[in-house]
Amino acid sequence: MKNKIFHPYTTFSALKNKLPNLVRGEGIYLFDDEGNKYVDIVSSWWACALGHGHPKVVKAIQDQAGILQHSITGSLTHPNVLTLAERLASLMPTPDRHSVFASDGCSAVEAAIKIAIQYWYNIDRPEKTWVIGMDQGYHGDSLGALGAGFVDDFHKPYEKVTSHPAKLPFPADGDFEPSRKVIEEHKAQLAAVIVEPLCLGSAGMKIYSADYLKQLADCCAENNVLLIIDEVAMGFGRTGKRFAFNHAGIDPDMVCMGKGLTAGYMPLSACVVKDEIYNTFTDDGEKDCTFYHGNTYAGHPIGCAAALAALDIYEDEGTVERGAEMAEKMKQWMLPMAELDCVKELRFLGMIGVVELKPETKPLIAQMKQSLFEQGYLFRPLGTMFYLMPPLIISDDELKGAVYALQQTIEEFCP
Ligand code: PMP
Repeated sequence: MKNKIFHPYTTFSALKNKLPNLVRGEGIYLFDDEGNKYVDIVSSWWACALGHGHPKVVKAIQDQAGILQHSITGSLTHPNVLTLAERLASLMPTPDRHSVFASDGCSAVEAAIKIAIQYWYNIDRPEKTWVIGMDQGYHGDSLGALGAGFVDDFHKPYEKVTSHPAKLPFPADGDFEPSRKVIEEHKAQLAAVIVEPLCLGSAGMKIYSADYLKQLADCCAENNVLLIIDEVAMGFGRTGKRFAFNHAGIDPDMVCMGKGLTAGYMPLSACVVKDEIYNTFTDDGEKDCTFYHGNTYAGHPIGCAAALAALDIYEDEGTVERGAEMAEKMKQWMLPMAELDCVKELRFLGMIGVVELKPETKPLIAQMKQSLFEQGYLFRPLGTMFYLMPPLIISDDELKGAVYALQQTIEEFCP
C-alpha cells in the first residue's frame, strides 16, 4: 500500500525507510505488524501515562460510544462534561473555576490566549493584547501558540505571521530578575504570560526551578498580568506531583491540559479558568462579552468518559505517588551515565530522565536510536538528547532494562 499520509514532524529523507507500522499496544509495550515488541519509552508523545489498553479506560470508552457519542456543548450539556468540569475545578488550589474544552493541547492554549485577550477587553483595558512566553518555550503548532512559543528552524516559514512582541529569558541560573524587567517594562500591553511549568519539553527537557515559577506568579499578580500555565506535557504526575505548578505552591489564573488528561486514550484538552476571569464574559451589561469561541469536539462525551476513567485510575492506583517513588529509582540507575566521556549532562525531574550527549555525537544519534529500536526500545531523541519519559506504570525491571539498554548503546557507539 502507498503511504498517503502527510506525516507530522517527519523529514522526507526519513520516509525513504519503511516506517514501523504499529498495530497494537498493551501496557508499556507497542507491537508492530511483524510481531516485534517495543517499550514505549516516551509514552507515545508524552500522553500515555497509563500505558496502552488499560481495561478500565477501554471499557469507559466502549460504554460511552453506545450511549451518546457526540453532543454540542454550545448552549447544551451532558452528564460527562458536567462531571469532568467539576472534577477539574476540584483539582485546582482554588475550585472556583470553569473549563473550556477542546481536543488537542494547542487548542486549549489557543483558548487560553483568546480568553486572556478578551478578559482585558471585557473590563475595558483593550490595549492589553500581548501574550508572551519564555524563550525556547513550546505551546503547540497553531499560529497563536507559535506566537507565544520560540521560533526555531521548524517555525521559520511562519515568522512573519506570528507575533513575538517580547519574551521572557530562559532562567538558566534560576535568576528571576531579567524576567521581572520584561514584565515591568511591558505591563501596559501585557494580557498574559504563558509558560511550561518547570520543564521546557520540546526545547529538550530544559528544567528550571519552582522558586522561579513562584516569583513569576507573584510578579504577574503585582503587575496586573494573567498567568497561564501550560500543563499539557507535565500534568497528571509526570513531575512527581499532580501538576508541575504544584511544586511552586501557586494558583494560576488559567491551566491548560491535554495529553495525560485522558492518558492519551482520546483527543481531549481543557483550559481551566478562574471565575474572576470567567465572570467577565457576560452579556448582562452594555457590551456583549460572550466568548464566541468553540470547537466541534469541545467536551466530546467519549473523550470526557476517557478522562473521567483516567482520573479515577490516577487516584485509585496512586499513579502520581508511585511515579514519584519510581523517579528516585530511575535517577539512581541513570547516574552512572554521568561518568561516560561523551555525556555532557544528566537532568532529572520526576519521571523525566535526560542524558544530553556532547555536540560531537550528533552524527551518531540516528544510528543509536535505530540500534535501541532494534533492541526493542522506542526512544525519540531531541537533538543530542536521549530522554526517558515512560508510562508511569512501568515496573522496576522494565525501567532498569531501558536504562541499561541506553547506557550500553551509548558506550557502544561513543567509546
Ligand atoms: N503545550 C505543550 C507544553 C506541549 O508539549 C505540547 C505538545 N507536545 C502542546 C502544548 C501541544 O499539544 P498538541 O500537540 O496536543 O496540540
